[in-house]
Amino acid sequence: MPRTSECAVLVAGAGPTGLMLALWLARKGVDVRIIDKTAEAGTTSRALVVHARTLEFFQQLGLADEAIARGRKFAGMRLWAHGEERGHVVLGDIGEGLSPFPFMLILPQDEQERLLIEALGAQGIEVERRTELLSFEDQGEKVVATLRRADGTGESCACAYLAGCDGTHSTVRHDMQVDFPGATYAHMFYVADVRASGPMINGDLNLALDTADFLAIFPMPGEGKARLIGTVKNSAAEAERLQWKDVSPAILERLKVNVEHVNWFSTYHVHHRVANQFRKGRAFLLGDAAHIHSPVGGQGMNTGLGDAVNLAWKLAMVLEGRSDARLLDTYEPERIAFARRLVATTDRAFTFVTSDGALARRVREDVAPRVIPAVMELDAARRYMFRTVSQILIDYRESPLSAGRAGRVHGGDRLPWTGANYAPLQSLDWQVHVYGPSPETILVPGVPTREFRRDASVDRAGFRSGAAYLVRPDGYVALAGTDARAIGAFMQHQVIR
Ligand SMILES: Cc1cc2nc3c(=O)[nH]c(=O)nc-3n(C[C@H](O)[C@H](O)[C@H](O)COP(=O)(O)OP(=O)(O)OC[C@H]3O[C@@H](n4cnc5c(N)ncnc54)[C@H](O)[C@@H]3O)c2cc1C
Repeated sequence: MPRTSECAVLVAGAGPTGLMLALWLARKGVDVRIIDKTAEAGTTSRALVVHARTLEFFQQLGLADEAIARGRKFAGMRLWAHGEERGHVVLGDIGEGLSPFPFMLILPQDEQERLLIEALGAQGIEVERRTELLSFEDQGEKVVATLRRADGTGESCACAYLAGCDGTHSTVRHDMQVDFPGATYAHMFYVADVRASGPMINGDLNLALDTADFLAIFPMPGEGKARLIGTVKNSAAEAERLQWKDVSPAILERLKVNVEHVNWFSTYHVHHRVANQFRKGRAFLLGDAAHIHSPVGGQGMNTGLGDAVNLAWKLAMVLEGRSDARLLDTYEPERIAFARRLVATTDRAFTFVTSDGALARRVREDVAPRVIPAVMELDAARRYMFRTVSQILIDYRESPLSAGRAGRVHGGDRLPWTGANYAPLQSLDWQVHVYGPSPETILVPGVPTREFRRDASVDRAGFRSGAAYLVRPDGYVALAGTDARAIGAFMQHQVIR
């Protein structure tokens, strides 16, 4: 007889997405289990860049300072062609005034996973290793998951909800019978974490633009440490056999780096795919299980973390009995739209940087190195780039949970940052924000009101005096308006049972 067990939420997969989901749920007091089929946490760097929106979520969990201490801020970008530096873009605090974290942070994925695992441990939750989800059945009232435990024995786990954070080859997606349409790029990626010296080991991101074989050097935390990422067009069979010695002569010739030691070398095929559904009944898909795309722009892991935060507070509300289960219907429309857009844009960017065509090549070699640094001198361009890449521009305006507009802030927008207004978000709960004098006291039963003085940053952010902003646990504005009763009614009808 297999062992039987129960929990409220079973998280399958302890990559960054699953860890973030489990941590947020644990902070909300939800009875959560997190399992992973591997014997230990990943020890390789994989995704490198943490964007501002992710750091804002980390700040809500009290982890941002530690993440920054363990990482390295992105200083700038240098563009190279034929061994010569052709352009330099200073990035630094490119999003000054837009986020408490106006930069991109380099924090290797294994380091980030460690941070999340430690935080989970502090909540008394350990990842259950060598525990594999074999299959599951949604029985309507509950999900029954079949697990294989570390000692080889079976277990039948009954849970209210199952979160599929189990990566590209997701078992949860397979059992949900959800399609994963898209394609696989002909190019194959290789990554090498190295200790090296030379003109390109300079603390900046260095991009070699002269051939269709994309090549980039990222700075990593630690003296002389760098990540080389490149692409080669190879047959699948050749790709399997590709080793550092096969690619290193071309790298050394193009980049003139002196590689002293290779800490890690790996190859992988990149796909662009989005699952047709992110939810079926009591099972959900998040992170790479739901969407995968080229790493250009460093968006993949950040998007998975955003999925986790979006679903976590909704599951917590429903399981606490504070909200109707209809709240969970908003997860898919809020997240799938962005995933589709992201896959399309990263696809266009990746196709351009790896195109063999003469025009694309000319643009890469001659036009881009001159135009990009010039454009990036412009304040408006820098801010636009930060807004887009950092994911602070993601909004849920089309969501059934979003309504109204006051000043320039719409229901569904990420709460614009003013300097003082993010500290209360650490409650991970609903709140009403009022900026400046309000015509009447905004009282919504069970929802605290936070009042902020008007100053230049409040004006810049677009908040209106006399208005109230109902803010969700994940820091998005649900309702913006001037009618206190409307906020109460909104909470009653949309969120609270
Ligand atoms: C070599 C490499 C380099 C990369 N570089 C970049 C980069 O530079 N930038 C970028 O944005 N992204 C990069 N990525 C992608 C990035 O690593 C992923 O987007 C990210 O890991 C997704 O996180 P996740 O938690 O959704 O899934 P994963 O990290 O894949 O985690 C899924 C977890 O589920 C577990 N699991 C799977 N099936 C089961 C099961 N049945 N039962 C129990 N556990 C299960 C797995 O063991 C794994 O731990 C790279 C990936 C690789 C492999």
